[in-house]
Amino acid sequence: MDHTKINLIVRLQHIDNLIESIMSLQKGLPEEITALEEDLAFTARQIEARKRVAEDHQKLRERLNGTIFECKEKIKSFKEKQTLARNNKEYDALSKQIEYEEKEIAQAEIKLQDISHTEHHAQELQKKGRDLISENRYDEISEEMMPDDVLNQQMEDLSQQVNLKKEELDSIVIETAEEITRLRETLASQRKSVSNDAKRLLDKYDHLKSGSMQNAIVKLDRHACSGCNTRVPTNRHTLIVQGGFYVCESCGRIVVHERLFEEAAAAQ
Ligand SMILES: [Zn+2]
Repeated sequence: MDHTKINLIVRLQHIDNLIESIMSLQKGLPEEITALEEDLAFTARQIEARKRVAEDHQKLRERLNGTIFECKEKIKSFKEKQTLARNNKEYDALSKQIEYEEKEIAQAEIKLQDISHTEHHAQELQKKGRDLISENRYDEISEEMMPDDVLNQQMEDLSQQVNLKKEELDSIVIETAEEITRLRETLASQRKSVSNDAKRLLDKYDHLKSGSMQNAIVKLDRHACSGCNTRVPTNRHTLIVQGGFYVCESCGRIVVHERLFEEAAAAQ
């Protein structure tokens, strides 16, 4: 049996393992940063939404106050005209117009009250939120109960955390960049030679790794596949010791003798 092919693929796995161990120095920082950034975006959206509501209220208030002012001006002028009315018909017509303007004012005032009620309700909810926070009952706090200042503080804290984690990750990336680049180049050329001499093994390797499996080729460890700990049948041990491979019946990984990994490391 030609064992050179398996040696080639073990070398590929060895380089992959080296890259993986360097990447693991990042200690899950990229995922952590993504999660923090999602929280940050969520908080920012909440703050933005509240700002929009406040602005809408302000605009509506200005518009309604404008309407009230105009109506009052009109009433004033209608009343002046009434003093000059030449007959009852003219006078009554003006009264009707005044009445109409008064209704307009009343409607605008109701709308102004609605805004005040809405704002008051929002403040009450935030007050409740503050009480819950002081009692550490965080899981009972709804989105709208979160007090404005707490939300702003949360946003500031999250931005700081994201920045710190990014700095930490950046420094790790910079420290390891050269090594990673070198290993990726080695990996590429190793793939090429495996692809030339052991295409089928490479396909199997890629297929195994296309899932969540990081290690397609593993060592025989205490007579078992070190990928899933399933025992390897005794009659296959000799072949593995001789430098052959065994495809684990349980997880599908390729099991080889650890000597092959040592040889791959030495060849690096
Ligand atoms: Zn296995």
